[in-house]
Amino acid sequence: MNDRSPRTQLRSLARNLYRKGWMEGTAGNLSVKTNEGLYITASGYPKGSLSDEEILCIPLLESGSFSAGDRRPSAEISIHRVLYRLFPESGAVLHVHTVEAALVSDLPGQDLELPPLEVLKGLGIADPSTRPRLPVFENDLLVTDIAEKIGRRLPDPRYPLPALLIRHHGTTVWGRTLADALRHLELVEFCFRLLVTKKFLDQK
Ligand SMILES: [Zn+2]
Repeated sequence: MNDRSPRTQLRSLARNLYRKGWMEGTAGNLSVKTNEGLYITASGYPKGSLSDEEILCIPLLESGSFSAGDRRPSAEISIHRVLYRLFPESGAVLHVHTVEAALVSDLPGQDLELPPLEVLKGLGIADPSTRPRLPVFENDLLVTDIAEKIGRRLPDPRYPLPALLIRHHGTTVWGRTLADALRHLELVEFCFRLLVTKKFLDQK
């Protein structure tokens, strides 16, 4: 993946995630941090067929100015920026809307306990029986308010995973590389699918 340009990598990943049903409509946003700035999907374009022009390169810091005609970066740029600031070793941030994330985020509480699954080892958890938790943030029409709340609660050793949930909204993960972030996304979504299936079976 590394020998391809950030635009090619993001277009390809967006297409794959769209096909999985994780970026329906124009939902979700993906970014990669480079020396040139932050490459991020533009707002309002179908993620299954992005063009190069629909991947924008913007300043990493909020103070940097930016213009690309009609195209705007994702509305959730403030969440990407705050995560790069809180976790400076991160090189990629992914945000998707999945059915399972919306369902598990509906459980009461400020965090979500994950099941003790072997896959947690792929998220850096040596002992899955410790049942790590993900922070859950309330959704807000003002995305900058969500970003501010993330900045107030993270990092926190109680939340050892590179992932968070926004209630009734979606999943956000980060990683050193795009491949790492994708692995984190796949693994937390696997945990969500298990939780949803278990709840369904428990109700039978
Ligand atoms: Zn979203």
